Amino acid sequence: MRTQVGIVGAGPAGLVLAHLLARAGIDSVVLENRSRGYIEQRVRAGVLEQTTVDLLRENGLAQRLDREGMVHHGLELRFAGRGHRIPLSELTGGRAITVYGQQEVVKDLVRARLEAGGEILFEVDDVTLHDLDSERPAIRFRHGGGDHELRCDVVAGCDGFHGVSRPSIPAGVLTAYEREYPFAWLGILAEAPPSSEELIYCSSERGFALHSMRSPKVTRLYLQVDPAEDLANWPDERIWEELRARFATDDGWTLADGPLLEKGITPLRSFVVEPMQYGRLYLAGDAAHIVPATGAKGLNLAVADVRILAEALEAWYRTGRTDLLDGYSAACLRRVWRVQQFSWWMTSMLHLFDDQGAFDRRLQLSQLAYVCSSKAAATSLAENYVGLPYV
Ligand SMILES: Cc1cc2nc3c(=O)[nH]c(=O)nc-3n(C[C@H](O)[C@H](O)[C@H](O)COP(=O)(O)OP(=O)(O)OC[C@H]3O[C@@H](n4cnc5c(N)ncnc54)[C@H](O)[C@@H]3O)c2cc1C
Repeated sequence: MRTQVGIVGAGPAGLVLAHLLARAGIDSVVLENRSRGYIEQRVRAGVLEQTTVDLLRENGLAQRLDREGMVHHGLELRFAGRGHRIPLSELTGGRAITVYGQQEVVKDLVRARLEAGGEILFEVDDVTLHDLDSERPAIRFRHGGGDHELRCDVVAGCDGFHGVSRPSIPAGVLTAYEREYPFAWLGILAEAPPSSEELIYCSSERGFALHSMRSPKVTRLYLQVDPAEDLANWPDERIWEELRARFATDDGWTLADGPLLEKGITPLRSFVVEPMQYGRLYLAGDAAHIVPATGAKGLNLAVADVRILAEALEAWYRTGRTDLLDGYSAACLRRVWRVQQFSWWMTSMLHLFDDQGAFDRRLQLSQLAYVCSSKAAATSLAENYVGLPYV
């Protein structure tokens, strides 16, 4: 088998890349180790930055997103029993976020790619990368009961944090920068109408909580929990009680509840490898970096990476120029570190830390009050949250 760009992973990074390359007349094959049904049901992120929505729209991939996505012009910061609205659009010249589940983005991207005759192989096994430092790298894998080799010009490693691409790079090439947080998020999806039209980031004396949504009938809620927490300790009623306690306001705000459709615990982590390239292998998205979900950036950062990669590959195929490909890692890392800082800052401001004393808590509350009362501070949060057009 032969293609121009071999893409490992059909998450947002791999699928968006396949579309951008196709638009530039560049062939690709996407290899995914899960089934189509699995990746289309996998509940993860749900906040799309303005830049991500614009890119999907420019590429004709946003018809359903435009119909069903929920455009939000503000968000709420809630602490000390009161809510404070940050008017995102007013502070950023009209930019906004759109709430639309990652699994819906994936469904749209897969369908559009297959309808356009694109090649996505699902349920591939034993993917290994070879000759990455040569001009003809190869991807070997098992599919449909047989062994295959895909020869290509370039490999895009879009296979997430636990994929094979990053570990295929020889030891000593990459430097990893990492921070673990002393908490995780217990996330639920509930068949209940959202209790607020906008997202609520709540810093309570019992820990952080987030109110989000996926549709007018489905709410997504998160609780800060211990990273070693066992889901078995969290029967549904305990989750609702804890959510009610954390979101409680002085004016008696109420949280609508309903049957749980899904629940899970996700650790919070900051992680970056530099560089995001080795030979003809280019890493993109979670394969190269992880951000704590508080900034709602993981999916958006994955899309930002592959936009840069697609532009660099297009320039290379069209004119033979290599400077954009050579600068791929540096160009991505500028945004990666901006987003890392923002995500760390949001996380640090909103969560309770184990070793935190009363002094540190007062600093957090003062920071929150400042963000809610200063236009300059609120604008800084808003422009990062809706996504900076340039970094
Ligand atoms: C459990 C979880 C929950 C999350 N929740 C949130 C959230 O609530 N809010 C938020 O903002 N962000 C969240 N994120 C982050 C966000 O979903 C990711 O940043 C985003 O999915 C990154 O896209 P990606 O394409 O880089 O990687 P992924 O979406 O991880 O896609 C990688 C793809 O590669 C495939 N793959 C892996 N290994 C191989 C292999 N060996 N061979 C072939 N294919 C392979 C995987 O099956 C997957 O389809 C969450 C992430 C995870 C993992």
